[in-house]
Amino acid sequence: MHAVGKFAASVAGAAAGLVFMIAPGLAQAPAQFEMTKVADNVYSFRFFVHRNMVVVTNDGVIVTDPINPVAAGQMMAEIERLTDKPVKLVIYSHNHWDHISGAKIFKDQGAKVIQHALAAKDTRPSPNVVPADETFSGDKHVVTLGDQTVELIHVGPSHGSGMVVMRLPKQRILHTIDVVTPGRVAFRNMPDFYPQDWIKALRKIEQLEYDTVIPGHGPASAPKTAVVAQREYLEDLTKAVSTAVKTVGNPFAFDKITEVVKTDLRPKYGQWGEFDNWMILNVDRITLEQRIGW
Ligand SMILES: [Zn+2]
Repeated sequence: MHAVGKFAASVAGAAAGLVFMIAPGLAQAPAQFEMTKVADNVYSFRFFVHRNMVVVTNDGVIVTDPINPVAAGQMMAEIERLTDKPVKLVIYSHNHWDHISGAKIFKDQGAKVIQHALAAKDTRPSPNVVPADETFSGDKHVVTLGDQTVELIHVGPSHGSGMVVMRLPKQRILHTIDVVTPGRVAFRNMPDFYPQDWIKALRKIEQLEYDTVIPGHGPASAPKTAVVAQREYLEDLTKAVSTAVKTVGNPFAFDKITEVVKTDLRPKYGQWGEFDNWMILNVDRITLEQRIGW
């Protein structure tokens, strides 16, 4: 399962849509999901292009964003291969359905769901999203289960509402959803992202102590430098767009602006995922922010 799963990871990274297309038809199709060990008792679970974190403690299991009901079911089966302890804690990273749906299977075994108050207030009702049992306000909230402590750190306006990153002090691991995706340009036209606030949030995240990142999309784990690279990309993109708009002389000439930006950024970021596909969308988002202020 794990060798197959690794293959699936590279396929999913390159072309998630392809996996969706071939998975139902082929008996030997790559797995849709995988559980990858990152440190003792700490795992990165992947379902297609989404990831979350699973932490096994001596008093039960902590899971973050359950993704959706199908992912949560597969995750639970994988957790049962690791431990016979129940899931006792589910922590939501922010307010978006694509990450926080599917907690029912954990709630049914007695798990408590925790979410930042700002995210809870802004989570649109959905039959697949279990509302939080407990919310917290402010910049930092510490939860403990058995021998494991998790720090929930609210990073402020950046993406969605009530975005928190989750730090495991003992393992020096930071779990980040959506605000850090290693080695890929920003997602499409950055839906519900506020690029200049996002940069400020990344500077805060850089101040925290950890060596390893478990992201919500992309590889199972990455070094802390991925956070710096994410912030530099957004800063470089912002500068490149300002310069390109001046060079082209017409803020509505997207194709031309994008070509100038690509030439500017290609030496440093040309190898990043979706560089050629999504750059025009990234540029669109930055020009809107620069022209309209949101
Ligand atoms: Zn999101």
